[in-house]
Amino acid sequence: MQLADLKWPDIEALSRDTPIVIPVAALEQHGRHMPLFTDSLLLGEVIRRVTEKLKDRVLFTPLMWLGNSEHHLDFPGTMTASPRVYLDLLKDMVENFLFHGFRRLVIVNGHGGNIVPAQQAMFELRQKYRQRMDLALISTTYWTLGAKPQETDRSLVQNRMGHACEWETSMMLRLAPHLVGDYKVAPTVTQDDLFEPAHRGWITKDRTKPGHIGEPRHATAEKGELLFSLLSNDVAVFLERVIAWDGKNKLT
Ligand SMILES: [Zn+2]
Repeated sequence: MQLADLKWPDIEALSRDTPIVIPVAALEQHGRHMPLFTDSLLLGEVIRRVTEKLKDRVLFTPLMWLGNSEHHLDFPGTMTASPRVYLDLLKDMVENFLFHGFRRLVIVNGHGGNIVPAQQAMFELRQKYRQRMDLALISTTYWTLGAKPQETDRSLVQNRMGHACEWETSMMLRLAPHLVGDYKVAPTVTQDDLFEPAHRGWITKDRTKPGHIGEPRHATAEKGELLFSLLSNDVAVFLERVIAWDGKNKLT
């Protein structure tokens, strides 16, 4: 179900155990060869495929395209909420549905910079509603649910998501090839970051000159179809778990 298509009495009639899914992505630079709206377009396609599988058992809000993208601001065209505003924005979107009485809230994310704010938003809301024992406040990112695409297609060079990389460029070649520029000339930019396995604060130009991170020149539309199919299947299987939850925290 799509929130945008429904009327308020339709929402009123829904079971409050219906999972509410809030897709969040970004509008930010994606290298010299990919459109600014990449993350939103790709997540939109993942959600479209998940909707086909789950039909009316989940309610999807419209995709929130403004993300936490301040690290990309040195590249023209990037739009971002400032990080604290973004955190509050996510909390408000989730809290709207807590106010409407729903109990299963899931942020499905499609942009690396949103991972920490989405987790923090759910963390803070759980503290605020600590007297409640019937809530599932969840965030997840569509490429982190377990799929190992490289095991299905050995020609994949990358084994994890980068930025405007082999994976994202492949999916865009599958979805909207007319929006993809000359990815064949894009140089390899290492995905390894300084000081790993510790996490450092970085801005994008600390890590890449052209704006991408990874190996876009190995992209193909066939790899894109495989990625869409594995990753959207992961999201659907995960949401089935949220649907099947008995509403109780299990304590021993
Ligand atoms: Zn991206």
